[in-house]
Amino acid sequence: MRQTNLSVFVPHSGCPHICSFCDQRTISSHISPITPDELRQLLTAQQPVLQKNNTSAQIAFFGGSFTAIDRGYMISLLEVAKEFLQKYPEQYTSLRCSTRPDCIDKEVLSVLRSYGMRSIELGAQSMNDEVLAANNRGHTAEDVRKAARLIKAEGFELGLQMMTGLYKDKPEYCISTAEEFIALGCDTVRIYPTVILKGTGLYRLQQAGEYRSFDFETTIDLCAELLKMFDRAGIPVIRLGLHAEKSVKENMTGGVFHPALREICESRMFLSELIENMPTAGKYIVYTDKSNISKVTGHGKANKTALKERGITFDIKEEAGTRLRVKRI
Ligand code: SF4
Repeated sequence: MRQTNLSVFVPHSGCPHICSFCDQRTISSHISPITPDELRQLLTAQQPVLQKNNTSAQIAFFGGSFTAIDRGYMISLLEVAKEFLQKYPEQYTSLRCSTRPDCIDKEVLSVLRSYGMRSIELGAQSMNDEVLAANNRGHTAEDVRKAARLIKAEGFELGLQMMTGLYKDKPEYCISTAEEFIALGCDTVRIYPTVILKGTGLYRLQQAGEYRSFDFETTIDLCAELLKMFDRAGIPVIRLGLHAEKSVKENMTGGVFHPALREICESRMFLSELIENMPTAGKYIVYTDKSNISKVTGHGKANKTALKERGITFDIKEEAGTRLRVKRI
């Protein structure tokens, strides 16, 4: 049976923070919070679709701050979700939510557990206090550590989300953030390169000439390295980059957004490994699993082209289960 997330967006209209990258005012004014009745309608409508497609879903409350919304409202949504977990256990298996690191304590975790919550994602964004303060996050790296440890200790699956290229950020801070994520034993990761949106604090800094975020090439190299780190640690990166939404394209004034961002970063990750394994000019055979062939070739054959400039050519041979094996011919 296939697995998916059924996303329910819960905008945090009462959020006391004004994070530098967040266009919360736009979100809050355009999306009204889902009501329990609307959630019931959504889950009722999706159940036969999931059944027909032989798919089970985690009901995922996204929007950033699920445990910080009005408690009565949060419970009203959880009650509907639990009703569907009990009624259709084949289609609805568990719950997932994302929230702020400073909105987690034992009490709220026990409430979430009683409704069937299995996975909790924290919007950590960075493990550098200077970056967190400069972007008005309103929490520290220590808040992330404490919340992450508590979530793990209470038996939930832990997801951590990070951004790259925020105000005052540096690639080395992002690498340190990834190292800390790995040390915290997270189960999943999401990586979001910063996108500067009109109306945000980052936009004002950009207009004032004080901020530019990382450029495209820096972001690709950095995210390729982050993918490699999480891959070696056995931690799945379940998202890289924002979804291709019309509002992002319309309101973006800087930062990095590309619909094929993950594919490009994965290709770059393989390029660095190919270079390591092909130290001198010549002709090689690269053995790899079918699922990696396009990544080895590179987005738009970018890796073949880059290596050709070094006097290196290669053919690819499919080898089930192999990540990368190189033979000189
Ligand atoms: S990103 Fe920041 S400002 Fe936006 S909803 Fe989350 S906590 Fe609030």
